Amino acid sequence: MACVDEIFGINVFNDSVMRQRLPKETYKTLHKTIDEGRRLDPQVASVVANAMKDWALERGATHYTHWFQPLNSVTAEKHDAFITPVDGGRVIQEFSGKELVRGEADASSLPSGGLRSTFEARGYTAWDPTSYAFIKEHVLCVPTAYCSYGGEALDKKTPLLRSMEALNRQAVRILKLFGRMDATRVTPTVGPEQEYFLIEKSLYDRRSDLIFAGRTLFGAPAPKGQELGDHFFGTIKSRVQAFMTELNEELWKVGVLAKTEHNETAPAQHEMAPIHSIVNVACDHNQLTMEIMKKVARRHGLHCLLSEKPFAGVNGSGKHNNWSMSTNTGYNLLEPGDSPHESAQFLLFLTAVIKAVDDYQDLLRASVASAGNDHRLGGCEAPPAVISIFLGDELTEILKSIEAGSIYNGREKTDMTVGVHMLPKFPKDTTDRNRTSPFAFTGNKFEFRSLGSSASISDANVVLNTSVAESLRQFADELENASDFRSALHDLIVRTIHDHKRIIFNGNNYTDEWLKEAEKRGLARLDSAVDALPCYTAEKNIRLFETHKVLSESELRSRRDIGLDSYAKIIAIEANTMIMMTRRQILPAVLRFTGDIAAAARNIRDIGADCASGTELVSSLSATTDQLGFDLRQLESVLKARPSGDDPLADARYMHDIVLPAMSDLRASADKLETLTDRSYWPFPTYDELLFSV
Ligand code: ADP
Ligand code: MG
Repeated sequence: MACVDEIFGINVFNDSVMRQRLPKETYKTLHKTIDEGRRLDPQVASVVANAMKDWALERGATHYTHWFQPLNSVTAEKHDAFITPVDGGRVIQEFSGKELVRGEADASSLPSGGLRSTFEARGYTAWDPTSYAFIKEHVLCVPTAYCSYGGEALDKKTPLLRSMEALNRQAVRILKLFGRMDATRVTPTVGPEQEYFLIEKSLYDRRSDLIFAGRTLFGAPAPKGQELGDHFFGTIKSRVQAFMTELNEELWKVGVLAKTEHNETAPAQHEMAPIHSIVNVACDHNQLTMEIMKKVARRHGLHCLLSEKPFAGVNGSGKHNNWSMSTNTGYNLLEPGDSPHESAQFLLFLTAVIKAVDDYQDLLRASVASAGNDHRLGGCEAPPAVISIFLGDELTEILKSIEAGSIYNGREKTDMTVGVHMLPKFPKDTTDRNRTSPFAFTGNKFEFRSLGSSASISDANVVLNTSVAESLRQFADELENASDFRSALHDLIVRTIHDHKRIIFNGNNYTDEWLKEAEKRGLARLDSAVDALPCYTAEKNIRLFETHKVLSESELRSRRDIGLDSYAKIIAIEANTMIMMTRRQILPAVLRFTGDIAAAARNIRDIGADCASGTELVSSLSATTDQLGFDLRQLESVLKARPSGDDPLADARYMHDIVLPAMSDLRASADKLETLTDRSYWPFPTYDELLFSV
């Protein structure tokens, strides 16, 4: 195995490479641009581009690409060789500042949600210098944002960068009020834990549903699932360990801080957690992680499934988005701190998050909405479709005492005025404490647990950053105008706790009682993606995003429509895959088996023996096959009756209300037939093989 410190970041044009290779002045200017989030001078860009090219060529690169993240949650790249022709039929290798900073992309096939019609397909990509360039398989990748010619965001990075700026602006205002003049920049930090499944590649190849939908659309449960709890944190099998070892090496080479690896709850399920970084880098790195997981799995004869719910009956996969805010002086704003003054500041940032989550529950829910994640949320394996906050008993008691102005924890009579006490350090929420909450405070950060495993983490963080920026904006407006800062701060915190405590829930989020209680508290319950996605264009949400210049109304509309449109398309692909598998695999196999059993029963009776079990099997098979035929025709007919039109909400609603139930009926009949049919006749690998063969 390679030595970690030798390979870490070996394919990254990182700060130490820049320091080494750039002229001192260029390095300083670039750094200033990065630190202050300013526009890059063209002359500086061309020096940087040249150094980047020389470095990339030495490392074996032949091409460069503007690597970007369109609205379909994957990444996009178009490679250009560095070559330029010169006299004598030869070439030289060049890379200009212009090519580094800005690219044109004819990306007419990428989703734009109406922001760009195909006849004006050009969009442009712009370098994000805060995320280092890196080499991936002979290609120098420059992380970029992607916009239309009119400057509208067509990707996941642009609003994320804008939301970071919004949060920075408001958080710095608050820090000034606390006299923290040294902190001139605040950045959101994120560590996303990534869950995934590994299955045998040869079995994957034989299942059209895994190939086309990324999840099983049929499959009777295996005799054993996750009920013994023997997989979570269990010993890692050698073959999986070999995969993880190579995965870590590949991730370290491109600078991803891969830290933790372990077996997850379901059989064949695993997790990788990185050390946190600034959110746009965390987002880039998570996209890279998903891509590299798939590639490395192939080299080990495995297939990596990132779908939110690959198998019914066992846990699906998510991403835990650990989120906090950090100053350029290295101070975590959600750390309770070591003095009463710091505790007061902590309480203000904490209540800003509580208020943001309460005010924008619907948006947080919408930010994790997808066809795949619908199978997970609310299934008692992941948080429900109702957003709430877990604070833990101790912190909740403190907030209660502050609100009531009463004694905390039965101690001696103490005055709970903000700024008078030092708060205790809160224990970190270890995995066994409360895994049911969608949004848990874990000692010095929040963990948003509702994200789907295949999604980009951008959407959720855009909402988090922007909604917290809005709380802070209101706080700063009020406190900046106060004559007595201390008492205004105290009043503000007390009022915020009072107004938003309904969002705090420390109990079990998986119970029906909680859903009833949440309804009583007036919390938003948005069960499906189709219920959640329209929230993007609710009046109050448009106002939020426009106030902070993160997304315009038309950009929000495009995001809502793309979400609904891909929801409907995914369900259509799944339904068509089910129809194909039923007509061309399941029906023929079951008819063949039924015929063979009927013939066998006849032969047995011919020699005068009784064959009640044969007769019984034939009649259950034929009755269930008739039901399967009925369900199949039903699914075909509802799919045919799908209304055509250009209302993405109506289309998604139809797919959810009419097509999904028909798919579910067809699956029930097919899964029953699976349990009746001789294994050697069944046309594709079953759950026991898929989940237990690696
Ligand atoms: P544990 O929960 O096992 O104690 P940690 O709390 O150290 O582990 O980290 C869990 C995840 O949270 C990791 O992905 C880590 O990078 C991330 N994390 C830790 N601190 C922060 C922070 N300040 N901001 C964002 N993410 C963080
Ligand atoms: Mg986890």
